[in-house]
Amino acid sequence: MSQNNIAVASLGFPRIGRHRELKFALEGFWSGKIAESELLETARKLRAENWSLQRDCGITRIPSNDFSFYDHVLDTAVMVGAIPSVYGWTGGDVLLSTYFAMARGSQGDGHADCGHTHHGHGVPALEMTKWFDTNYHYMVPEVSEEQEFTLTSQKPLDHFLEARALGIHTRPVVLGPVTFLKLAKARSAIFKPLDLLPKLLPVYEELLRRLAAAGADWVQIDEPISVLDLTEGERHALSVTYKTLTQAVPELKIMLATYFGGLADNLAAVAALPVAGLHVDLLRAPEQLDDVLKAVRKDQVLSLGVIDGRNIWRADLASILNRLQPVVAARGGGGVEVATSCSLLHVPIDLELETALDAELKSWLAFATQKLSELSILGRGLSEGKAAVAAEVDAASRAIAARASSPKVTDPLVRGRIAGIDAGMRQRKSAFAVRRAAQAEAIRLPLFPTTTIGSFPQTPEVRKVRSAHAKGTLSYVDYEAFLRKETEATIRWQEEIGLDVLVHGEFERNDMVQYFGEQLSGFAFTQHAWVQSYGSRYVRPPIIFGDVSRPNPMTVRWWQYSQSLTDKPVKGMLTGPVTILNWSFVRDDIPRSETCRQIALAIRDEVNDLEAAGAKMIQIDEAALREGLPLRHKDWKTYLDWAVESFRICSSGVDDKTQIHTHMCYSEFNQIIDAIAAMDADVISIETSRSKMELLDAFRNFKYPNEIGPGVYDIHSPRVPEVGEMTELLSLARQRLQDRQLWVNPDCGLKTRKWDEVRPALVNMVQAAAELRKAAQ
Ligand code: GLN
Ligand code: ZN
Repeated sequence: MSQNNIAVASLGFPRIGRHRELKFALEGFWSGKIAESELLETARKLRAENWSLQRDCGITRIPSNDFSFYDHVLDTAVMVGAIPSVYGWTGGDVLLSTYFAMARGSQGDGHADCGHTHHGHGVPALEMTKWFDTNYHYMVPEVSEEQEFTLTSQKPLDHFLEARALGIHTRPVVLGPVTFLKLAKARSAIFKPLDLLPKLLPVYEELLRRLAAAGADWVQIDEPISVLDLTEGERHALSVTYKTLTQAVPELKIMLATYFGGLADNLAAVAALPVAGLHVDLLRAPEQLDDVLKAVRKDQVLSLGVIDGRNIWRADLASILNRLQPVVAARGGGGVEVATSCSLLHVPIDLELETALDAELKSWLAFATQKLSELSILGRGLSEGKAAVAAEVDAASRAIAARASSPKVTDPLVRGRIAGIDAGMRQRKSAFAVRRAAQAEAIRLPLFPTTTIGSFPQTPEVRKVRSAHAKGTLSYVDYEAFLRKETEATIRWQEEIGLDVLVHGEFERNDMVQYFGEQLSGFAFTQHAWVQSYGSRYVRPPIIFGDVSRPNPMTVRWWQYSQSLTDKPVKGMLTGPVTILNWSFVRDDIPRSETCRQIALAIRDEVNDLEAAGAKMIQIDEAALREGLPLRHKDWKTYLDWAVESFRICSSGVDDKTQIHTHMCYSEFNQIIDAIAAMDADVISIETSRSKMELLDAFRNFKYPNEIGPGVYDIHSPRVPEVGEMTELLSLARQRLQDRQLWVNPDCGLKTRKWDEVRPALVNMVQAAAELRKAAQ
């Protein structure tokens, strides 16, 4: 093996800090407890720490400008001066207060966990939405037709220089102009953000010029949109962009980073770009390697994304080395880099912090820090030959073999049940019309029944008591007594205001996925494995490591207690399999669909047990079903098929007279309405109040037969809706659907709201339903 020095690249490192330092500094700053200078100092320390860690781990392409106070898309919007006029910016440096106003509104009001927008009083925040198919959320840039762009911030340059002052040469990371515009929202429908490209490119030219002048030799420009279905116009935009930028600043080499999927039909166009380097994701699209090898030019550096930036499993170094060695031999060491598949933003920072995790499981995992070491082993193996890293590679192989054969991973009982799933298990006993009659008989409800989505306010007191119990300072008995008291008060209050279908309030739940994961086999939880969801909100996704089963009923006891308090029906409340799957780190040794079916069987058992205990209505939330749609349209059907099948496995074990509800936190169902109908839930509650019920058109056009609760109360806002607003919305709904189909409920769960907001809003909602009933007579 020749002595090539293969570059080893990290595409980005988590910015939050090993101990969530960034969160605490941000929240301290927002609440006025710490000064701006202290926040800046914390940020500087975190950057320095990340750079030196990466250097010490042997990374030779160390990213800078991957740090952000809130979000890198927001940073880009600010950097190019795409700052809507409501934020009052009139040119010059952008103040941190302006930046945070864009991120959080001028009176930051928390998001509900499914929310995309937050409305506060004062200046609203930019909209927020999911970053490709990750669970990271970015702020949606907003541009106007007469938008002008200017370089307002030199953050990429500042951070490059900051690292250099520490003796570390970095490769700045910049979000590409085409991706930026494609993710941006046009303030009016008469133009497309991409039309603004000619105005935006000079700003990027200027930035690249300054980076080059400061001594940068490479810049990483991220264009993840290259893995989406693109129009000819969008491909052309890529070509114009990279021709322009490489001509303007030929001395700065561009590593064009694509990730989250394969290039597929965009490969020819992307490979033809005149950039010095191309990065491809070989985790999400391993099959693209051969085509990519044929398409890239000899003089280009090919960056091979082989270490998973999206998941937490230890890499199979031996097989990666085997696969890459011929590539290196063919292209020469200078023609190749080994890299993370995408930024490490989406994985936790350091496995070593997990002192309570099962040792065997731990030996199968790699978080960001461990992934850096894996990369450097690969780099050495490819540069110096396998023998140089034999011990490390063997250790990885042994861990992988141990995982594959561990009894913790495979449960023959679960495998047997999966093999035994037959048509009858995926289908309710009778068609909806028959079930509807049986349910009307079993559950006496008025026209336009009222209900809520499940949770009631998680007050500071509820959270305090839960954390006291978790810390061991509050006994189980006292914790239970507290939860019972809260639940009872909530049931009583719902009865008092006259809601028709009650919920228990979910006070015992920390999180709608974690609560179930903690009671299922095959799941593990961490202490410190935080990843950024948005801004200063971080989550600790469960790790699904083995076959999933449900050793014991999970919610039956709470349902029974709640139902014992009232004669009104109380809904059983469960999280669906697709949502549990999409919000967890999943196995990479079996298909996602398989894990989803396993979870579905566990939830099915719970549904059946709830029915046996007497529940007449059971809600299975699928908040994440739609957001799990694949990036490429051609992959939608396969996903929807198994997602819908999984839902049906959960819901098909019950009698006709048991009413199955589902809830989804959105209603842009136009493209997937047939899948929604195929779920065959008796009742679906959705989010519609913000669109003024327009989103119901999909249901009308489809002639959706089952019942629907279009949200009439926007729970993402602290505002209390008036009765009139809700009757107005309901009359819009009645224009689209039949009266017998309609339910009256809020948009989503109420856990993020305050009681003072919830009480009057629900009283008004019940009143609105009553007025509607009168009108309908
Ligand atoms: N039942 C859950 C709740 O009310 C649903 C939340 C969600 O869909 N995000 O909180
Ligand atoms: Zn919701």
